[in-house]
Amino acid sequence: RGVLHVVATPIGNLADLSPRAQQVLREVDAICAEDTRHTRTLLAHFGIDTPALALHEHNEDALAGRVVARLLAGESLALVSDAGTPLVSDPGFRLVRAAREAGIRVSPVPGPSAVVAALSVAGLPSDRFTFEGFLPARAAARREVLARLAGEPRTLVFYESSHRIAETLADMRAAFGDDRPAVLARELTKLFETVLDGSLAALQAQVDADPNQRKGEFVVVVQGAGDDADAQLAEGRRVYMLLAAQLP
Ligand code: SAM
Repeated sequence: RGVLHVVATPIGNLADLSPRAQQVLREVDAICAEDTRHTRTLLAHFGIDTPALALHEHNEDALAGRVVARLLAGESLALVSDAGTPLVSDPGFRLVRAAREAGIRVSPVPGPSAVVAALSVAGLPSDRFTFEGFLPARAAARREVLARLAGEPRTLVFYESSHRIAETLADMRAAFGDDRPAVLARELTKLFETVLDGSLAALQAQVDADPNQRKGEFVVVVQGAGDDADAQLAEGRRVYMLLAAQLP
């Protein structure tokens, strides 16, 4: 029986591909990749010519069976996504579950993940946090999710793209209040890395004023609802938002 290695890859800086990740990617029989072209570019940089096969949301169920059969036959495979850690807002969950159900050893090669990278520099409480991934694209659904999170005491972490960052900050202000402390981590490990902190209102003002601050990839880290007074205010706002969502 082979092993399925789940390998984290860089979120920007290629030097973040660990020596062990390079060795595993070199030695496995094949690499399941979200986007084979993207992964081949990464592999080429390290002189690795292991074959890659495409595993994405739309074919994951179908491919999982074939991959598990290869693992059962003794091949070792790796799973990577385009950037960071597979399964974290990325495909792979169904393949890993199928492999585990078949009794295959699934072994991590840990490394970069934007959620942990952002938390590590945000300077917000991080012993406990809730990772919310991407918010819904539709405004009404997004506002509803944010309203539900308004009283959450743990630090909140969201992924966001450049298309929606301004709207998301505006919706967060409405749900959590202007003064809630937050951190905007942009383009981590890349040339234009910036980590801004301030109240949600101040962050939104910076993003609105500077188009460069709307470019690239973002992690938004928001401090949890604080003491009772904060929580009560947030609860009031949550109820208001839920009621407002029902109004025509
Ligand atoms: N699996 C990845 C991980 O472990 O971080 C996340 C994949 S998800 C499809 C992509 C999102 O992660 C981006 O939209 C952004 O929110 C975040 N992200 C990825 N790379 C980033 C970076 N260098 N700086 C800031 N955020 C990043």
